[in-house]
Amino acid sequence: MPKKALICGISGQDGAYLAQLLLNHGYEVYGTSRDAQIATLANLQYLGIRDRIKSLSMSLTDFRSVLQVLNQVQPDEVYNLAGQSSVSLSFEQPVETLESIATGTLNLLESIRFIGKPIKFYNAGSSECFGDTRGLSADEETPFRPRSPYAVAKSTAFWQVANYREAYKLFACSGILFNHESPLRPDRFVTQKIIAAACRIAKGQAQKLVLGNIDIQRDWGYAPDYVEAMYLLLQQEQPDDFVIATGKTISLSDFIVEAFGLLGLNWQEHVISEQSLYRPTDITISRANPRKANQQLGWCATTSVQQIVQIMVEAMQRKLSSQ
Ligand code: NDP
Repeated sequence: MPKKALICGISGQDGAYLAQLLLNHGYEVYGTSRDAQIATLANLQYLGIRDRIKSLSMSLTDFRSVLQVLNQVQPDEVYNLAGQSSVSLSFEQPVETLESIATGTLNLLESIRFIGKPIKFYNAGSSECFGDTRGLSADEETPFRPRSPYAVAKSTAFWQVANYREAYKLFACSGILFNHESPLRPDRFVTQKIIAAACRIAKGQAQKLVLGNIDIQRDWGYAPDYVEAMYLLLQQEQPDDFVIATGKTISLSDFIVEAFGLLGLNWQEHVISEQSLYRPTDITISRANPRKANQQLGWCATTSVQQIVQIMVEAMQRKLSSQ
């Protein structure tokens, strides 16, 4: 019998790549969207796997809906990748952010406990929980100092998972993932915004790109590498939490230089940084130490930021020429 995986939030960037990976591992893959009837599941189509996924509607904030789906699928593994995922948007929709992430995770944990079978659970944790570490590398022992409604919600979900693991012996893990990008990243995220604008400017379709703070520094990895780590987390003997990152930090302006440079553009002629677009609170430098994942999971990020930029630029150029 093939193993069954349920991916909550399958329409997103990570959901699509994870579905592809699990299909390649021989899993039967089920995926949820808030409304599977109307969801285009364009990312699954992009990867050519739409017809191999069984899609279901599920609202994470509705316990009945969550329990019903878990009962119906009877999965071996559940990956929770759903919820409001934008830090910027969380300042405008704090309640939606908290409920979709914290209540959503709790409903999944409670449903697993209620069903009483040995279902393994992966929670999409976030490096945003660390807040400002003043340039120090964050690892699994670093305390959380969240600086956005999104990070507060992710911190809550992280501790819910840790508590259910300890209290009820659930096989529940959090991957504390640093930023990861790909051609499937939605346009509202800054990396894709940069790539899209640079490609349009190169085609003569735009002139300027207006951004917030371009001095922030982040550890950017490649989404297909990161879903491999999610899978490995659930294949361990014991459930545990892991920091997943490349271990290399660069500034947003370096990312911009890379993208514009690849297209033969001088970024300084096109990019404007506007104070009005700064977040109310932000993380200046995000730095990671992924040694535990390297040693215990045997996982390492294999795609450099330069390669990620190139992959994203090529995908965007294909998209723009087909429009
Ligand atoms: P996406 O935003 O691409 O996908 C998230 C999915 O969640 C969406 O496809 C959507 O599915 C569902 N969703 C969106 N808003 C809500 C909401 N308000 N309530 C319930 N469901 C919602 O995220 P990613 O694939 O990039 O990330 C996956 C998970 O990993 C997320 O939890 C994210 O916060 C976390 N994460 C991501 C990082 C990154 O760099 N990408 C870094 C660290 C953590 P639908 O509309 O079909 O219901």
